[in-house]
Amino acid sequence: LFVDRPLHEGARIALDRGQANYLLNVLRLKNGESVLIFNGQDGEWRAEVSVEGRKSADLVCAVRARSQTERPDLIYAFAPLKHARLDYMVQKAVEMGAGILQPVITQRTQSTRVNLERMRSNVIEAAEQCGILTIPEVREEESLAPFLKSLAQDRVIVFCDEDAPVSNPVQALAELGNNPAGVAVIVGPEGGFTDQERALVAAHERCVRVSLGPRILRADTAAVAALAIVQSVLGD
Ligand code: SAM
Repeated sequence: LFVDRPLHEGARIALDRGQANYLLNVLRLKNGESVLIFNGQDGEWRAEVSVEGRKSADLVCAVRARSQTERPDLIYAFAPLKHARLDYMVQKAVEMGAGILQPVITQRTQSTRVNLERMRSNVIEAAEQCGILTIPEVREEESLAPFLKSLAQDRVIVFCDEDAPVSNPVQALAELGNNPAGVAVIVGPEGGFTDQERALVAAHERCVRVSLGPRILRADTAAVAALAIVQSVLGD
């Protein structure tokens, strides 16, 4: 469970109604039973439930269960999709190890109004579900050119392009393994990148244009496929 409070031995955390309801009525935890909590900075703690009444409960940090991990230096840049598909894609990017989610507005992006709050709560839910201890950062939306300019020259862009010649993406990405400057995976909108946008991405100092196979994938499918390949090459 994610709690936005400092965590240390003996820390007492008053839960909000939603969290108390989840613990007491969904997980049916009893007084004295424990739950694992994290805040994205202080590692994971086993905390005991201290029931304060039918609808309220505190948690008391008892023992650190896992020490804090670093947030992965893996940017997942994507053209925002419409609601449910975007929720799904954000959730998959977190499960697949992205550390930074960067909405990028391209010419054919369907929804240019990005609900960052919604994305951030989806990220927290996904982090709780997949058991990571860091909360991936959701950055403000950027247009493509300024986003590309903001990347360090030696960061490798994994440019997912359905027009790239079909080849083995794992081989194409083999060089990522020892790249200290981090990786940025970029996936276009359902309408695809324009040729100018392709040229812009390809102009980045270190850009690997990869095909994810002979079929045209939905953008949210491409997210999972691309991040799975990158993770297997990075060995994370
Ligand atoms: N040009 C596509 C079409 O004809 O429908 C539209 C783009 S596709 C639905 C959405 C995005 O997923 C693309 O911009 C690309 O980044 C990624 N993508 C989809 N299939 C891919 C593939 N086979 N290889 C690499 N990237 C792919």
